[in-house]
Amino acid sequence: MARYTGALCRLCRREGEKLFLKGDRCFMDKCGVERRKYAPGQHGQRRKKASDYAVQLRAKQKAKETYCVLERQFNKYFHMADQMSGVTGSNLVQLLERRLDNIVYRIGFASNRNQARQLVTHGHFTVNGKRVNIPSYLVSKGDIVSPTDSGKNFKIVQENMEKADQRGAISWVERDVEGLKGKILHLPARDEVSTFFDEQLIVELYSK
Ligand code: SF4
Repeated sequence: MARYTGALCRLCRREGEKLFLKGDRCFMDKCGVERRKYAPGQHGQRRKKASDYAVQLRAKQKAKETYCVLERQFNKYFHMADQMSGVTGSNLVQLLERRLDNIVYRIGFASNRNQARQLVTHGHFTVNGKRVNIPSYLVSKGDIVSPTDSGKNFKIVQENMEKADQRGAISWVERDVEGLKGKILHLPARDEVSTFFDEQLIVELYSK
């Protein structure tokens, strides 16, 4: 299962804004964007005028980086979204949000999506009581996501869950901190999800 293995802060610096890919560190002075407010690389401090294409491409890159998805899988999501009824951009965001690693992060079991992905890949989570170790698994309405018995004993999972309510409630997921589980109440509408990217720009990019 391919994944990005480079420096995560570099991705935020490339986008020029915080994408919150590292959990608690993102709220500290150590944050890469706070320390170096320019793009990475030799020419990172040059000012460039972005073309329309560059703006659209950056929107797509931001979406991929946010959800830890590589190019091929992102293309797959876009084509799935395009074939669904409704607005393609909203469908795309909904599909990305339905990923199991995202849900594990949203509920609060992990402090960031990369950590969630690792916990899922190592088989520490179940959906409706059945172990699922595929981060891209798409959850459905009514699904219950919880750690396995061994996952429940993980200190990191317990600590993250204790802090989960500080992140605020999610309208479409019911979080049970005591019971260490979360239930998908409904699939998210576009206005229930805040993102760092404009999905309409992504639709424009793919329609070229
Ligand atoms: Fe991005 Fe977090 Fe790194 Fe800051 S600390 S640059 S928000 S990943």
